[in-house]
Amino acid sequence: MAAEKESFNYWEELTLEQMTKEQWEMLCDGCGLCCLHKFEDEATDEVFFTDVVCRYLDEETCRCQHYESRKQYVPDCLNIQPDWGEKFNWLPSTCAYRLLYQKKSLYDWHHLVSGDPDYVHMAGISVRGRAYSDADVSDDEVFLHIIDWVKS
Ligand code: SF4
Ligand code: SF4
Repeated sequence: MAAEKESFNYWEELTLEQMTKEQWEMLCDGCGLCCLHKFEDEATDEVFFTDVVCRYLDEETCRCQHYESRKQYVPDCLNIQPDWGEKFNWLPSTCAYRLLYQKKSLYDWHHLVSGDPDYVHMAGISVRGRAYSDADVSDDEVFLHIIDWVKS
């Protein structure tokens, strides 16, 4: 007998709180956008992204080089949690975690929908090829790198 195709799209059926650790990790699209430096306007809560990225992001794969131990390298690195609430708004508008928090659908290029982890790069969503390492940009100059191709 032929195996039946798995039709359970867990990201459409489960809440963020109900997901297993593996399901939660699989949500990440690998865009690397959350590793860009950003500024928050305290008066309006508006977030502005720059094209300066953490030095520990592999700019080809757009994955953290020290994911499991990243807090040792960057103590204030984001640790996204299901109960984050309004803090999901710090993430880019395309981020899968933010989209599901907002009860929106994942984009067609997301690997869970498309089946291809390269689509996030092919669709021009990820940081691949268009960010500067923070090892090469002084702290005083980061604000000069504010960009409009990432929306919060
Ligand atoms: S912005 Fe969201 S989907 Fe993209 S790398 Fe960060 S956590 Fe993953
Ligand atoms: S430590 Fe890793 S996950 Fe954290 S900002 Fe840097 S590259 Fe991104």
